[in-house]
Amino acid sequence: TNTPQPKRADRSKVYMADLESALHYSLRVEAARAAALSGAQLDAFKCYVATLVKYFPGRSCVQTYLQSLDTWLRNWTEPELPRSILKEAMKNNRDASHPAVLPTNVTWVGCQGSEPHFRGYPCGLWTVFHLLTVQAAQNGPDKELPLEVLNTMRCYVRHFFGCQECAQHFEAMADESMDRVASREEAVLWLWSHHNEVNARLAGGDTEDPNFPKLQWPPPDMCPQCHKEEWGVHAWDEQAVFTFLKAHFSPTNIYLDYTE
Ligand code: FAD
Repeated sequence: TNTPQPKRADRSKVYMADLESALHYSLRVEAARAAALSGAQLDAFKCYVATLVKYFPGRSCVQTYLQSLDTWLRNWTEPELPRSILKEAMKNNRDASHPAVLPTNVTWVGCQGSEPHFRGYPCGLWTVFHLLTVQAAQNGPDKELPLEVLNTMRCYVRHFFGCQECAQHFEAMADESMDRVASREEAVLWLWSHHNEVNARLAGGDTEDPNFPKLQWPPPDMCPQCHKEEWGVHAWDEQAVFTFLKAHFSPTNIYLDYTE
């Protein structure tokens, strides 16, 4: 009777368990499907890990894990990286003086669906990339390399994302407008507005979890000041949205409950 009941996820929070689960799944499962990585696919993988090292605000054991994987990849100069060798290099190292550990369990909290086939990994991957665009805007020079994180995401999705149809949709959106992004702040807003485009396209469809309807996000109850009306038509206050995204995807809004 004293067993603690799992708390219901709070949608105003970001959960480290979702982020780490998405990283584990993307690095060790999704990206390690091919028998070997080479060429543009190997570059995309290296680029993803390097971007995570720069901007992922992880626990210290996870940051150490990402740093040592990045160093290992930089030292891999052969054109082909066989999966068996990569898998070995991606194992945790708990014995070192600075443990390098990315948990191997998958636990969805904010991304938990009402059925196993809903939400989970795709939700976690969106969350990781929103967080990275925001951290890159906060911690990098605004006018330099505005597309640093978006290009990493584009390459990751193109080469590894398991849902091919999703990857094609995303590539079409990227191809249409990503090159007009001129600053890191615009990169944050580009990802936000295009994620909303995806939400609008998928609303009411059969991939929608009935308990988590696709919304234009953040809805008014999460951010009233993000919404305004112009001539009787709904409009976003993009400055307020940017302020909201900076607070939502900030290290202080990442909760460690449920991490191993
Ligand atoms: P998600 O849409 O996954 O969102 C995750 C969380 O991000 C939400 O819970 C919310 O907290 C936050 N969020 C929501 N909207 C925004 C926003 N605009 N800005 C910032 N944060 C936001 N599925 C398909 O069926 N067809 C597709 O073509 C398709 N394309 C995809 C392309 C990509 C690149 C990715 C990563 C996923 C794609 N998916 C597609 C999956 C789909 O977008 C959802 O991830 C999935 O249906 C799970 O939805 P969800 O309710 O968990 O919320």
